[in-house]
Amino acid sequence: MAITALESTGTVTLTIDGREVTAPEGATIWQAAKAAGIDIPVLCHDERFDPVGVCRMCVVDVGAPAFAASCVRACEMGMQVKTDTPELERNRATLTRLLISDQPPREHDPKQTTTGDNELLALADRYGVTRDNTGLPCGSGRGVDLSNPVIAVDHDACILCDRCTRACDDIQGNDVIGRSGKGYETHIAFDLSDPMGASSCVSCGECVAACPTGALTNKPIRNIPIRPRTELDAVDTVCPYCGVGCALTYYVDRERGAIAYAQGREQPGSHGRLCVKGRYGWDYAASPQRLTVPLIRREESYPKGALSADVRGDMAAGGEAKHSLADGGPGEKRGGRRGRKPGGLVDYAEVLPHFRDATWDEALDLVTRRLTEIYAAGGPAAIAGFGSAKCSNEEAYLFQKLIRTGFHTNNVDHCTRLCHASSVAALFEGIGSGAVSTTFGDVVNAEVAIVTGSNSTANHPVASSFFKQARRNGTTVIYIDPRADRMADHADIFCQLKPGTDVAFYNAVMHEVIRLGLTDDDFIARRTSNYEALRRTVADYPPERGEQITGVPAELIRRVARVWGSAKSGVIFWGMGISQHTTGTDNARCLIAMCSITGNVGKPGAGLHPLRGQNNVQGASDMGLIPMFYPDYQKADDPGVKARFEQAWGSTDLDPQRGLTVTEIIGSALAGGVRGMYMLGENPFLSDPNINKVRKALSALEFLVVQDIFLTETAEFADVILPASSYMEKDGTYTNTDRRVQLGRKVLDPPGKARVDWEVVQDIANRMGLDWHYASPREIFEEMVSVIPSYKNLTYDNLGLTGKLYPNPDPEHSDGTVVMFTEKFNTSDGLAHLVPAEWLPARELPDEEYPFVLNTGRMLEHWHTGSMTRRSYALDAIAPKALVFIHPDDAADLGLEDGDLARVSSRRGVIELEAKVSHREARGNCFIPFHFREAAANLLTIDEIDPFGKIPEFKFCAVRIEKADG
Ligand code: SF4
Ligand code: SF4
Repeated sequence: MAITALESTGTVTLTIDGREVTAPEGATIWQAAKAAGIDIPVLCHDERFDPVGVCRMCVVDVGAPAFAASCVRACEMGMQVKTDTPELERNRATLTRLLISDQPPREHDPKQTTTGDNELLALADRYGVTRDNTGLPCGSGRGVDLSNPVIAVDHDACILCDRCTRACDDIQGNDVIGRSGKGYETHIAFDLSDPMGASSCVSCGECVAACPTGALTNKPIRNIPIRPRTELDAVDTVCPYCGVGCALTYYVDRERGAIAYAQGREQPGSHGRLCVKGRYGWDYAASPQRLTVPLIRREESYPKGALSADVRGDMAAGGEAKHSLADGGPGEKRGGRRGRKPGGLVDYAEVLPHFRDATWDEALDLVTRRLTEIYAAGGPAAIAGFGSAKCSNEEAYLFQKLIRTGFHTNNVDHCTRLCHASSVAALFEGIGSGAVSTTFGDVVNAEVAIVTGSNSTANHPVASSFFKQARRNGTTVIYIDPRADRMADHADIFCQLKPGTDVAFYNAVMHEVIRLGLTDDDFIARRTSNYEALRRTVADYPPERGEQITGVPAELIRRVARVWGSAKSGVIFWGMGISQHTTGTDNARCLIAMCSITGNVGKPGAGLHPLRGQNNVQGASDMGLIPMFYPDYQKADDPGVKARFEQAWGSTDLDPQRGLTVTEIIGSALAGGVRGMYMLGENPFLSDPNINKVRKALSALEFLVVQDIFLTETAEFADVILPASSYMEKDGTYTNTDRRVQLGRKVLDPPGKARVDWEVVQDIANRMGLDWHYASPREIFEEMVSVIPSYKNLTYDNLGLTGKLYPNPDPEHSDGTVVMFTEKFNTSDGLAHLVPAEWLPARELPDEEYPFVLNTGRMLEHWHTGSMTRRSYALDAIAPKALVFIHPDDAADLGLEDGDLARVSSRRGVIELEAKVSHREARGNCFIPFHFREAAANLLTIDEIDPFGKIPEFKFCAVRIEKADG
């Protein structure tokens, strides 16, 4: 009920307070009254949850001997309902008096003194009830729990309405809150009555948003008091973190120039939900470490290279020189780096003295002169740009336009290369579009949902809440992953396959689907090509062979095939566990084939959804921030496309060749090809594989300009650093994983002399003589829509508060298209092109010397290279340190216990970090989040790439684990 519209086959007519009301069959009296504009007070009820009718505040008179709880009582034909008789009001007043009797004093109520929206106190005001005139004892003495860094629990203010429990269970699917104690001692309990901060709570704050009293409240962050809403400015915008793109409102204290708190906002995708990053992780923008003035490298800090000991890689913990990680070939053993510096951020005191303050004019003149000189000497191949999927569509569009029209090169890329490039390559080849074929919310219509290679509870938490909720409502969830992530706890079927065996697994499933005759032959005949080749390939993968390669029992593979093949609608969600392999494109080809041979594309509850990582990675790709495509995926090496963009942009000599990708640019810089780079909001030093190689490449550049909000590791190699604006400090549009284009609105002013990114890009363009005159993001948006047919019918004005999905057939009314490819695919012949794939092993397999498989990824609380999240109070407090997760038996064999220092080494480097014994890992595997510079996972990773998507193999390399000296 919470996520579907009320399904009804008919209507009923009844009378409420003398008015004839017609309601859908099955509607409750409360719903019917609300629709008719009649307010019935509630306490335990929230429209987003299934009603329980426990508080009795909403009782109404239906002519029966007892009053009926209107939130649960269904409307009946001809029913006569009274909602506001004196007796009902007396009843509610008495109830309120009883509840208020043991509440904390109003002046101490945490919700009333902060947001001012304590629903119980509002009822007390309505009925003239005060705590003092009840004549009953005050305070239950159940105490407070302040153990969570961002949420305060006051058990005395709890009325046991269960709203928090239902928010946690029914909405977020976290199942943390229950009840403990008896009688007057009864209280909400986290797990087994643990302190909230020590429980399995993931601090999503949904319970706080649901609580109608002061029992659950947000703590102030960075000492910004949470004041009543009437005293704060509300700015409706979108979360800056992941591709789910949750809508939210920031409440801004203008006196202090800071955000006081965030609240989820209704939008057709996220429905008001947030995760810990969205709700509590915004204060990085107010960090005192923000860059506020342009910086130029001092003469004496040349020749170029890393400036801090950590980034040079030559220091151990405590600053003592110990081991170099700079060189070495395969198989070479080397010493370790501990570097467990508290806070784990660039040491400004160590790095900043190498730069001097500059004016914007001086800095931009220098940037333009040096890049132009390098271009003049080396031609287009000497220049490259990395844009950012954190920036807006308008900024991505202008950035690629600058690189293409100013330097006549297609060497422009961004982090999509490290994320879903292989998925996009397979999707383009298979169905002619890199975007999702349906939204994550469409899972509600799926009979079966496969979630694969996706640690979605951590990486796309709000999307995962819809997966979990769909399962509660009957969708069968199949989770396929080498790690038993939390999604496994919510799956009907969990297949823990060996890393790097996805192709074999899906081929075996398809083998069985075909053998059982569960294919959709009509769909195959009408809407696909190359089925015979696929059939021949998967014929070699009977489930027994699948078991041999993947480790998943043949019987379980058969079960997946039966469930998937029999479903009327099936959807596949996947993450970087599929894409970040040297076989990433093959993995995605298999998923496309899985859907296509069962007819599971182009209808509700069916389709293909690569869960996009960054908040605007979909948009940045749509904008052409990739070397092989102009905006809207128009091929860079197509002469017709080139001519069109030359005309649209008034440019000549656009590059007729595809450009280099992120990893190729790093290789080219090492080889002396690319000499000058413009880096906008990217931090490849930590995000790219094989850091030692990246270090050499960045050091080798003749000129590097970094535009960012913090002094990143990459900025240490810069000649010029430009202080950029954070997400909070500008207007712009962002496109989420669903293809939803939303407006991000300015919340705060940029600090110091920091500037909005699109203006900086335009200033450089104009210094190069490009003569741009964009006055606002709106103007850029209008131009970009004119060259992006997929964005047709979107305007800055019609995006409104909730954005719109593209393609959008109706500019006036439509929310856009949920299900794509209902009639044909975007390929030249309109068919899905099935591409068979043979399983290939990973490039670097474990051996005696390096016996473990390393898997890298994100944690719930952190984001990429940590530059934002590690400067967020809440996120850093909850997850402050680097960890290596290992199976209990492996830990025992290695003599490691929770909290011990482990040394993890690969053929490329060594890191030391804390061991976390975890039943979620399989034996022989380990997992390291890549956010922590002091134990940078990418010192270990291999830079082998997928041949089609050019994405690195972040999910598989061989490592050794040892206990380190304490
Ligand atoms: S913060 Fe989220 S996970 Fe924690 S108890 Fe509340 S609803 Fe549950
Ligand atoms: S799920 Fe993603 S978009 Fe939503 S609040 Fe969390 S980080 Fe932000």
